[in-house]
Amino acid sequence: MATTFMKLVNRRALKSFMGHHCIVFNSVAKASTVGVRSCQALPEKVKIVEVGPRDGLQNEKTIVPTETKIHLIDMLSEAGLSVVEATSFVSPKWVPQMADQMEVMKGIFRKSGVTYPVLTPNLKGFQAAMKAGASEVAIFGAASELFSKKNINCSVDESLQRFDDVMKAAKESNIPVRGYVSCVLGCPYEGKVAPEKVAYVAKRLYDMGCYEISLGDTIGVGTPGTMSLMLEAVTKEVPVSALAVHCHDTYGQALANILVALQMGICVVDSSVAGLVDVPMLKVLQGMLLQKMLSTCSTALASRLEWTCPN
Ligand SMILES: [Zn+2]
Repeated sequence: MATTFMKLVNRRALKSFMGHHCIVFNSVAKASTVGVRSCQALPEKVKIVEVGPRDGLQNEKTIVPTETKIHLIDMLSEAGLSVVEATSFVSPKWVPQMADQMEVMKGIFRKSGVTYPVLTPNLKGFQAAMKAGASEVAIFGAASELFSKKNINCSVDESLQRFDDVMKAAKESNIPVRGYVSCVLGCPYEGKVAPEKVAYVAKRLYDMGCYEISLGDTIGVGTPGTMSLMLEAVTKEVPVSALAVHCHDTYGQALANILVALQMGICVVDSSVAGLVDVPMLKVLQGMLLQKMLSTCSTALASRLEWTCPN
């Protein structure tokens, strides 16, 4: 299984990542001829937050062996990514795929300059993450009341209150916290989600002390139009410099949605290697964007973007 999995990753992503994309990065002059000179206000630099080892692997039906996960994370940091979300400190009862969180954190090579955030759903998870040597954690909330109710059986506000003790402990230990908002462009239960509700949840996370808020179109139903409206609302409440986008590519819209986000000043984009992804309630899965983003988009925008790739 491990071999098959790594072959999949190698074939679909890393070979391409390490080969093609770095050629793109090293060929800015050439790429600029493909450029999109008409694009306005593109950021000078974009940070990629790779979430595949957590967001992707937690939804794999077969549990990926610890050694394979460690190898994957090490390859991702070697590939030049500066942030690789490594695992989740959730109860193995709920997410057996992440039961080896301690071994993964102990086993990975901590490359200098790379951060390895982990998801911490509660104080117990936070404490375990600290024992494992995590230097950054992430918490999460939904922009949809119905999703929150169905998923964790509480309101959005209640779900955020549950993180109070994590935030307090993180502050005491000087640990940066990233916040995720799910269902920002649609909910599998509720359908449309109001941009104002996304703005409210994002602001709550920001006010709680999250340094960065990742806005997740977790079912991939967003379009450039809805992305634009949502970001307009959120940027009224949270500084754009503290925002990231997390676009699932379920209907092939992620690339276009990310371009809109970049044009609106977002400088942080989540990615998932090989399109690994956790999308609850959807039968048609195409995964979250990484490769299309880094190949097509970086080629098109290379004249304006400086990617954080050391090779
Ligand atoms: Zn995701």
